[in-house]
Amino acid sequence: METTQSPSMNQSELVKVAELLSRSKNTVVLAGAGMSKESGIPTFRGKGGLWTINGEPPLNQYEIFLDDPKKWWSEKFTPNNKEDSFATALDQSKPNDGHNALVQLERLGIISHLITQNVDDLHRQAGQISITEIHGNRYWIRCIACNSRWPKNSISIQKDLLPPRCEICNGILKSDTVMFGEPIPPNLLQDCHDATRKADLFLTIGTSAIVYPAGQFPIMALEKGIPLIEINPETTPLSEFTKINLRGPSGQILPELIKLISENQV
Ligand code: NAD
Ligand code: ZN
Repeated sequence: METTQSPSMNQSELVKVAELLSRSKNTVVLAGAGMSKESGIPTFRGKGGLWTINGEPPLNQYEIFLDDPKKWWSEKFTPNNKEDSFATALDQSKPNDGHNALVQLERLGIISHLITQNVDDLHRQAGQISITEIHGNRYWIRCIACNSRWPKNSISIQKDLLPPRCEICNGILKSDTVMFGEPIPPNLLQDCHDATRKADLFLTIGTSAIVYPAGQFPIMALEKGIPLIEINPETTPLSEFTKINLRGPSGQILPELIKLISENQV
Protein backbone atom coordinates (compact mmCIF):
# COMPACT_ATOMS: atom_id res chain seq x y z
CA MET A 1 0.00 0.00 0.00
CA GLU A 2 1.40 3.41 -0.98
CA THR A 3 1.50 6.24 1.50
CA THR A 4 1.62 9.87 0.53
CA GLN A 5 4.44 12.14 1.59
CA SER A 6 4.60 15.84 0.97
CA PRO A 7 6.96 16.38 -1.95
CA SER A 8 10.23 17.86 -0.78
CA MET A 9 13.45 18.54 -2.63
CA ASN A 10 16.18 17.57 -0.19
CA GLN A 11 19.26 19.40 -1.53
CA SER A 12 21.90 17.15 0.08
CA GLU A 13 20.23 14.02 -1.31
CA LEU A 14 19.98 15.63 -4.74
CA VAL A 15 23.73 16.36 -4.60
CA LYS A 16 24.46 12.75 -3.56
CA VAL A 17 22.46 11.40 -6.51
CA ALA A 18 24.13 13.87 -8.90
CA GLU A 19 27.52 12.57 -7.68
CA LEU A 20 26.49 8.94 -8.11
CA LEU A 21 25.27 9.70 -11.64
CA SER A 22 28.44 11.62 -12.54
CA ARG A 23 30.54 8.57 -11.62
CA SER A 24 28.24 6.11 -13.42
CA LYS A 25 28.82 4.84 -16.95
CA ASN A 26 26.01 2.33 -16.91
CA THR A 27 22.88 3.69 -15.29
CA VAL A 28 19.73 1.74 -16.12
CA VAL A 29 16.33 3.40 -15.63
CA LEU A 30 12.92 1.84 -15.05
CA ALA A 31 10.34 4.54 -15.86
CA GLY A 32 6.60 4.41 -15.19
CA ALA A 33 3.47 6.43 -15.72
CA GLY A 34 4.50 9.15 -13.22
CA MET A 35 7.21 10.19 -15.69
CA SER A 36 4.50 11.48 -18.07
CA LYS A 37 2.31 13.16 -15.46
CA GLU A 38 3.80 16.58 -16.26
CA SER A 39 2.99 15.91 -19.93
CA GLY A 40 -0.67 15.89 -18.91
CA ILE A 41 -1.13 12.08 -18.92
CA PRO A 42 -2.75 10.72 -15.76
CA THR A 43 -1.26 7.70 -13.97
CA PHE A 44 -3.36 4.61 -13.24
CA ARG A 45 -2.11 3.98 -9.70
CA GLY A 46 -0.93 6.40 -7.05
CA LYS A 47 -2.69 9.45 -5.67
CA GLY A 48 -5.34 10.70 -8.13
CA GLY A 49 -4.59 7.80 -10.56
CA LEU A 50 -7.43 6.66 -12.87
CA TRP A 51 -7.66 3.19 -11.30
CA THR A 52 -7.29 4.59 -7.80
CA ILE A 53 -10.46 6.57 -8.55
CA ASN A 54 -12.38 4.21 -10.92
CA GLY A 55 -11.09 0.70 -10.05
CA GLU A 56 -9.06 -1.67 -12.24
CA PRO A 57 -10.24 -2.80 -15.72
CA PRO A 58 -10.90 -6.52 -16.59
CA LEU A 59 -7.78 -8.67 -16.25
CA ASN A 60 -8.57 -10.94 -19.24
CA GLN A 61 -8.21 -8.41 -22.09
CA TYR A 62 -5.81 -10.63 -24.04
CA GLU A 63 -8.07 -13.67 -23.73
CA ILE A 64 -10.94 -11.58 -25.15
CA PHE A 65 -8.69 -10.51 -28.05
CA LEU A 66 -7.59 -14.11 -28.80
CA ASP A 67 -11.19 -15.38 -28.64
CA ASP A 68 -12.23 -13.05 -31.45
CA PRO A 69 -9.48 -10.86 -32.97
CA LYS A 70 -11.75 -9.96 -35.90
CA LYS A 71 -14.32 -8.46 -33.50
CA TRP A 72 -11.57 -6.54 -31.67
CA TRP A 73 -10.30 -5.07 -34.95
CA SER A 74 -13.82 -4.34 -36.27
CA GLU A 75 -14.47 -2.27 -33.16
CA LYS A 76 -11.41 -0.18 -34.03
CA PHE A 77 -13.15 0.78 -37.27
CA THR A 78 -16.48 1.52 -35.59
CA PRO A 79 -16.97 5.22 -34.82
CA ASN A 80 -17.11 5.61 -31.06
CA ASN A 81 -18.64 8.76 -29.71
CA LYS A 82 -17.74 7.93 -26.11
CA GLU A 83 -15.27 10.51 -24.92
CA ASP A 84 -11.99 8.86 -23.92
CA SER A 85 -10.11 11.46 -21.91
CA PHE A 86 -7.10 9.15 -21.46
CA ALA A 87 -6.65 8.70 -25.24
CA THR A 88 -7.07 12.44 -25.77
CA ALA A 89 -4.41 13.18 -23.14
CA LEU A 90 -2.02 10.75 -24.86
CA ASP A 91 -2.68 12.23 -28.30
CA GLN A 92 -2.06 15.78 -27.12
CA SER A 93 1.02 15.03 -25.00
CA LYS A 94 4.58 16.27 -25.58
CA PRO A 95 7.78 15.20 -23.79
CA ASN A 96 8.37 17.15 -20.56
CA ASP A 97 11.57 18.40 -18.88
CA GLY A 98 12.02 14.98 -17.21
CA HIS A 99 12.07 13.14 -20.57
CA ASN A 100 14.53 15.72 -21.93
CA ALA A 101 16.80 15.34 -18.89
CA LEU A 102 16.98 11.56 -19.41
CA VAL A 103 18.05 12.16 -23.02
CA GLN A 104 20.84 14.45 -21.75
CA LEU A 105 21.97 11.77 -19.29
CA GLU A 106 22.15 9.30 -22.18
CA ARG A 107 24.15 11.75 -24.30
CA LEU A 108 26.55 12.33 -21.38
CA GLY A 109 27.27 8.59 -21.39
CA ILE A 110 25.63 8.06 -17.97
CA ILE A 111 22.39 6.27 -18.88
CA SER A 112 23.09 3.14 -20.88
CA HIS A 113 19.53 1.87 -21.14
CA LEU A 114 15.98 2.94 -20.37
CA ILE A 115 13.23 0.43 -19.64
CA THR A 116 9.88 2.17 -19.88
CA GLN A 117 6.46 0.85 -18.94
CA ASN A 118 4.89 3.79 -20.76
CA VAL A 119 3.16 3.30 -24.07
CA ASP A 120 3.01 7.01 -24.91
CA ASP A 121 6.09 7.26 -27.17
CA LEU A 122 7.36 10.34 -25.28
CA HIS A 123 10.87 8.99 -24.55
CA ARG A 124 11.35 8.35 -28.28
CA GLN A 125 9.95 11.75 -29.19
CA ALA A 126 12.39 13.36 -26.73
CA GLY A 127 15.27 11.55 -28.50
CA GLN A 128 16.15 8.63 -26.17
CA ILE A 129 17.99 5.99 -28.21
CA SER A 130 18.61 2.93 -26.04
CA ILE A 131 15.13 2.03 -24.92
CA THR A 132 12.91 -1.00 -24.26
CA GLU A 133 9.17 -0.31 -24.29
CA ILE A 134 8.27 -3.27 -22.13
CA HIS A 135 4.49 -2.64 -22.34
CA GLY A 136 4.63 -1.67 -26.01
CA ASN A 137 4.00 1.59 -27.84
CA ARG A 138 0.50 2.73 -28.80
CA TYR A 139 1.72 4.00 -32.17
CA TRP A 140 3.07 0.57 -33.19
CA ILE A 141 1.60 -2.75 -34.33
CA ARG A 142 3.04 -6.17 -33.42
CA CYS A 143 2.69 -9.71 -34.73
CA ILE A 144 1.71 -11.99 -31.84
CA ALA A 145 3.50 -14.95 -33.46
CA CYS A 146 6.93 -13.60 -34.47
CA ASN A 147 6.94 -10.32 -32.45
CA SER A 148 7.89 -8.16 -35.46
CA ARG A 149 6.84 -4.53 -34.92
CA TRP A 150 5.93 -1.72 -37.31
CA PRO A 151 4.82 1.89 -36.82
CA LYS A 152 1.01 1.93 -37.22
CA ASN A 153 1.13 4.50 -40.00
CA SER A 154 3.50 2.36 -42.09
CA ILE A 155 1.03 -0.48 -42.69
CA SER A 156 -2.38 -0.41 -44.29
CA ILE A 157 -5.11 -2.42 -42.62
CA GLN A 158 -8.05 -3.42 -44.79
CA LYS A 159 -11.45 -3.31 -43.17
CA ASP A 160 -12.73 -6.31 -45.16
CA LEU A 161 -9.70 -8.48 -44.32
CA LEU A 162 -9.69 -8.62 -40.55
CA PRO A 163 -7.78 -9.52 -38.49
CA PRO A 164 -4.72 -8.19 -40.32
CA ARG A 165 -1.93 -10.73 -40.81
CA CYS A 166 1.84 -10.52 -40.58
CA GLU A 167 3.56 -10.30 -43.97
CA ILE A 168 6.47 -12.35 -42.59
CA CYS A 169 4.79 -15.29 -40.83
CA ASN A 170 1.03 -14.78 -41.39
CA GLY A 171 0.51 -14.45 -37.62
CA ILE A 172 -2.26 -12.21 -36.26
CA LEU A 173 -1.41 -8.54 -35.79
CA LYS A 174 -2.49 -6.54 -32.77
CA SER A 175 -1.77 -3.21 -31.22
CA ASP A 176 1.76 -3.27 -29.73
CA THR A 177 0.39 -2.15 -26.35
CA VAL A 178 0.54 -5.15 -24.01
CA MET A 179 -2.92 -6.14 -22.78
CA PHE A 180 -3.78 -7.57 -19.39
CA GLY A 181 -3.03 -11.29 -19.47
CA GLU A 182 -0.71 -10.99 -22.48
CA PRO A 183 2.86 -12.25 -22.14
CA ILE A 184 5.62 -9.68 -22.67
CA PRO A 185 7.61 -10.58 -25.82
CA PRO A 186 10.59 -12.64 -24.55
CA ASN A 187 13.13 -10.66 -26.63
CA LEU A 188 12.17 -7.50 -24.72
CA LEU A 189 12.57 -9.22 -21.35
CA GLN A 190 15.98 -10.49 -22.45
CA ASP A 191 17.08 -6.93 -23.38
CA CYS A 192 16.01 -5.69 -19.92
CA HIS A 193 17.87 -8.56 -18.20
CA ASP A 194 21.02 -7.90 -20.22
CA ALA A 195 20.94 -4.16 -19.46
CA THR A 196 20.29 -4.67 -15.73
CA ARG A 197 23.07 -7.24 -15.43
CA LYS A 198 25.59 -4.65 -16.66
CA ALA A 199 24.23 -1.71 -14.62
CA ASP A 200 26.33 0.14 -12.03
CA LEU A 201 23.37 2.28 -10.85
CA PHE A 202 19.62 1.70 -11.14
CA LEU A 203 16.99 4.45 -11.14
CA THR A 204 13.25 3.88 -10.76
CA ILE A 205 11.28 6.93 -11.86
CA GLY A 206 7.53 7.51 -11.56
CA THR A 207 6.68 3.89 -10.97
CA SER A 208 5.19 1.95 -8.11
CA ALA A 209 7.33 -0.95 -9.44
CA ILE A 210 4.65 -3.47 -8.50
CA VAL A 211 3.72 -4.40 -12.08
CA TYR A 212 5.51 -7.62 -13.03
CA PRO A 213 7.61 -8.54 -14.87
CA ALA A 214 8.88 -4.90 -15.12
CA GLY A 215 9.13 -4.75 -11.31
CA GLN A 216 11.63 -7.61 -11.24
CA PHE A 217 14.46 -5.48 -12.67
CA PRO A 218 14.98 -3.16 -9.66
CA ILE A 219 14.83 -6.29 -7.46
CA MET A 220 17.44 -7.95 -9.67
CA ALA A 221 19.62 -4.82 -9.32
CA LEU A 222 19.22 -4.95 -5.52
CA GLU A 223 20.21 -8.60 -5.41
CA LYS A 224 23.34 -7.78 -7.39
CA GLY A 225 24.23 -4.99 -4.93
CA ILE A 226 23.63 -2.23 -7.50
CA PRO A 227 22.58 1.00 -5.73
CA LEU A 228 18.92 1.80 -6.30
CA ILE A 229 17.59 5.37 -6.48
CA GLU A 230 13.88 6.20 -6.51
CA ILE A 231 12.29 9.38 -7.89
CA ASN A 232 8.61 9.56 -6.94
CA PRO A 233 6.46 12.00 -4.94
CA GLU A 234 5.08 9.03 -2.97
CA THR A 235 6.59 6.06 -1.18
CA THR A 236 6.33 2.69 -2.96
CA PRO A 237 6.93 -0.91 -1.86
CA LEU A 238 10.52 -0.44 -3.11
CA SER A 239 11.25 2.68 -1.06
CA GLU A 240 12.55 0.85 2.01
CA PHE A 241 15.20 -0.91 -0.09
CA THR A 242 16.46 2.08 -2.05
CA LYS A 243 19.73 3.87 -1.28
CA ILE A 244 18.20 7.32 -1.78
CA ASN A 245 14.60 8.38 -2.37
CA LEU A 246 14.07 11.71 -4.08
CA ARG A 247 10.52 12.77 -3.26
CA GLY A 248 8.97 14.98 -5.90
CA PRO A 249 7.86 15.13 -9.53
CA SER A 250 10.35 13.73 -12.04
CA GLY A 251 9.80 16.73 -14.36
CA GLN A 252 11.31 18.89 -11.62
CA ILE A 253 13.92 16.60 -10.02
CA LEU A 254 15.61 15.34 -13.19
CA PRO A 255 16.41 18.84 -14.56
CA GLU A 256 17.80 19.75 -11.08
CA LEU A 257 20.12 16.75 -11.31
CA ILE A 258 21.30 17.81 -14.78
CA LYS A 259 22.03 21.29 -13.43
CA LEU A 260 24.13 19.87 -10.58
CA ILE A 261 25.99 17.48 -12.90
CA SER A 262 26.82 20.25 -15.40
CA GLU A 263 27.97 22.63 -12.62
CA ASN A 264 30.36 19.96 -11.32
CA GLN A 265 31.83 19.45 -14.76
CA VAL A 266 32.94 23.08 -15.29
P1 NAD B 1 2.66 2.86 -11.77
O1 NAD B 1 2.18 1.69 -11.05
O2 NAD B 1 4.05 2.81 -12.16
O3 NAD B 1 2.26 4.15 -10.84
C1 NAD B 1 2.53 5.49 -11.15
C2 NAD B 1 3.52 6.08 -10.15
O4 NAD B 1 3.85 7.40 -10.54
C3 NAD B 1 3.01 6.16 -8.71
O5 NAD B 1 3.93 5.51 -7.85
C4 NAD B 1 2.96 7.66 -8.43
O6 NAD B 1 3.28 7.97 -7.09
C5 NAD B 1 4.04 8.18 -9.37
N1 NAD B 1 3.92 9.61 -9.74
C6 NAD B 1 2.82 10.38 -9.79
N2 NAD B 1 3.13 11.62 -10.22
C7 NAD B 1 4.46 11.65 -10.46
C8 NAD B 1 5.38 12.63 -10.92
N3 NAD B 1 4.97 13.86 -11.26
N4 NAD B 1 6.69 12.31 -11.04
C9 NAD B 1 7.13 11.06 -10.72
N5 NAD B 1 6.29 10.09 -10.26
C10 NAD B 1 4.97 10.36 -10.14
O7 NAD B 1 1.97 3.14 -13.08
P2 NAD B 1 0.43 3.07 -13.36
O8 NAD B 1 -0.02 4.48 -13.46
O9 NAD B 1 -0.21 2.20 -12.33
O10 NAD B 1 0.33 2.37 -14.76
C11 NAD B 1 0.39 0.95 -14.92
C12 NAD B 1 0.73 0.65 -16.35
O11 NAD B 1 -0.24 1.25 -17.22
C13 NAD B 1 2.04 1.28 -16.76
O12 NAD B 1 3.08 0.44 -16.41
C14 NAD B 1 1.81 1.51 -18.26
O13 NAD B 1 2.03 0.33 -18.96
C15 NAD B 1 0.36 1.88 -18.33
N6 NAD B 1 0.21 3.36 -18.32
C16 NAD B 1 0.93 4.09 -19.23
C17 NAD B 1 0.83 5.47 -19.23
C18 NAD B 1 1.67 6.24 -20.23
O14 NAD B 1 2.09 5.65 -21.22
N7 NAD B 1 1.94 7.51 -19.98
C19 NAD B 1 0.00 6.13 -18.31
C20 NAD B 1 -0.74 5.34 -17.40
C21 NAD B 1 -0.61 3.96 -17.41
ZN1 ZN C 1 4.90 -12.52 -37.77
